[in-house]
Amino acid sequence: MKPQQSKSTCSYCGVGCGIIVQQDKKGKIKVKGDPDHPVNKGLLCAKGMNLHYVVEDRSDRLLYPQMRRGKGHPLERVDWDTAMSRAAAVFKSIIQKFGPDSVGFYVSGQCLTEEYYLVNKLAKGYLKTNNIDTNSRLCMSSAVMGYIQTLGEDTVPVSYEDIEIADCFLVAGANPAWCHPIIWRRIEKHKELNPGTKIIVVDPRVTQTCDLADLHLQIFPGTDVVLYQAMGRCLIESGDIDLHFIQNHTDGFEAYQNVVMQKSLEKSALICGVSVSDIQLASSYIGESKGFLTLWAMGLNQSADGVNKNLALIDLNLITGHIGKPGSGPLSLTGQPNAMGGREVGGMATLLSAHRKLDNPEHRKEVADFWGIEELPDKPGLTATQMISALEEGTLKAIWIICTNPMVSLPDSKRVEEAMKKARFVVVQDISSKTAGIPFADLVLPAAGWAEKEGTMTNSERRISHLSKILNPPGEALPDAEILIKFANKMGFSGFDFPDAAAVFKEHAALTKGTNIDISALDYGILKERGSVQWPFVSTDQPPSVRLFTDKKFPTPNGRAQIRISGAQNQHEATDPDFPLILTTGRIRDQWHTMTRTGKVSKLMKHIDTPFLEIHPHDAKQRGIAEGDTVVVKGRRGEVRIHAKFSDKIRVGVVFLPMHWGKILENDFARTNNITGNAIDPVSKQPDFKYSVVEVAKF
Ligand code: SF4
Repeated sequence: MKPQQSKSTCSYCGVGCGIIVQQDKKGKIKVKGDPDHPVNKGLLCAKGMNLHYVVEDRSDRLLYPQMRRGKGHPLERVDWDTAMSRAAAVFKSIIQKFGPDSVGFYVSGQCLTEEYYLVNKLAKGYLKTNNIDTNSRLCMSSAVMGYIQTLGEDTVPVSYEDIEIADCFLVAGANPAWCHPIIWRRIEKHKELNPGTKIIVVDPRVTQTCDLADLHLQIFPGTDVVLYQAMGRCLIESGDIDLHFIQNHTDGFEAYQNVVMQKSLEKSALICGVSVSDIQLASSYIGESKGFLTLWAMGLNQSADGVNKNLALIDLNLITGHIGKPGSGPLSLTGQPNAMGGREVGGMATLLSAHRKLDNPEHRKEVADFWGIEELPDKPGLTATQMISALEEGTLKAIWIICTNPMVSLPDSKRVEEAMKKARFVVVQDISSKTAGIPFADLVLPAAGWAEKEGTMTNSERRISHLSKILNPPGEALPDAEILIKFANKMGFSGFDFPDAAAVFKEHAALTKGTNIDISALDYGILKERGSVQWPFVSTDQPPSVRLFTDKKFPTPNGRAQIRISGAQNQHEATDPDFPLILTTGRIRDQWHTMTRTGKVSKLMKHIDTPFLEIHPHDAKQRGIAEGDTVVVKGRRGEVRIHAKFSDKIRVGVVFLPMHWGKILENDFARTNNITGNAIDPVSKQPDFKYSVVEVAKF
């Protein structure tokens, strides 16, 4: 074969780095950063650089469909027609007996936009249920609600190029040096060239991100709202707010001012565990800046108070007028490569296509008319953790899991396993035989992975990139889109006559016409020619959509941004004498999610190859624990047995577990989500992974 070179996009985090995939005469592939891609300009982090190892090592791949003849029977190899006929027969029978809401789909922020579009159309349009949710619920749903409640729409108004213009960064609940490395390289470079640039980091742990910080506010977990409102108070008192912007383009400032002025800085500092002078210093950095960017990730979103934290942070952009101008605005750091694309097609239980609202009858009619169907269901679907409750209660009978590993990644894992056992029918559609859902599956469907299928993804700055198909998938594995189309056809649904991924994208793009995320002028041809494009994209002549709200008009009913009072109540579970420590969880540098891909790469395992508990030496000493001891981390729902790693970079009273490890060594002792709980944000329904109460003892 001839050597080939194709363009793609990294399939890990939401930074969205461009990749060039080179294939030699023998078909072997190599990857390198795309020097022409505006996001990474040729750079890649360790995960991206090693993507070809993941693709080449097919030892764990699912190669053909498998089916159980009944519960308790072994999985048997079947052909695609048998697998799809069974899926269609079971879904039809369950829906007939128990109604459309007795089935559901749980998908992934790693699905391509076309796949997301199809599963959303299938569930909402044809099966007549809004029970289609995604692991993005675990990732960005608090940010979605934060954006909607303040700016009127789920939209990131800035671009990465604002990084090189900003002179103050507030990085909250995020460790981009490890988790969004290429963004962080850009910030590092910017600070190197402009040493006056101020970086404030808010995090209960001292992470590598703090190495670059001018100021680290090491708050008590869960106290973000108090901190950002205290900063708001300082900015009001020092006069560093933009009164003209507030008066002409926002609502809610008076109420905000009343609330933030009620709490003294001393009291706020005490609650947050930082000094008054540090709160004042951070506020002065913001007040003196010409370009102020707020960056945040799971430390804010994965919280029972997640939406409030988002509101309190975005309020800082609004009261200072730092939005809709160069170098300024909120920039949520997306955890997954296509969480944004999934939201664009409405691939969540509470959304509709192109950011239309599920509770708006006109919006439902627009989508129904476009799809040529009578109506869409109006009842909000089950969100990720609500699906687990519904399985437990027996109201959800069938669940179809695509490209995600909920037995490791959802909170309270043992409960998730018990719930799955109660399901009448579980479909697992994945690339990896290591996915923890397979023992619970009645039907296993082998999917194509990265570089084995064509499609698009949208990164954190609204940038849509095209991913080429470079290799054939192994065995009988198929692209997820093809699997969904096969199922729709077996169900007898019209509306799924798509010859290829380009046709799916074309339909999705047409459905965005007239909305704020209009990409109706975009197609694969333009994407391939330009490499990537930011939305909106209404004409080939329009200049790039680098920055939104430059006209200070917001997509709210009255066109004004909303400064929101966020309740500062802490809704997490409380510590007590039995469980006196707070457990927080997160990523390590070179691993991704539940390690089914990065765990295969020896180079990535070299960084940290075993799970650990990070604990302050003071807390360890009190418990007679020595460095390296095996310890039991016990919570209200379960435990983890793991070795202790001392660190004075974590607060006394707080411990940390990496999120990645599932069942290893024939047991589940390292699975962090044995401990995490069922608290969710009441608005976004996002689970809290950052605040569980535990005790630690020597094993
Ligand atoms: Fe991939 Fe994210 Fe690393 Fe870029 S920063 S190479 S998108 S994992």
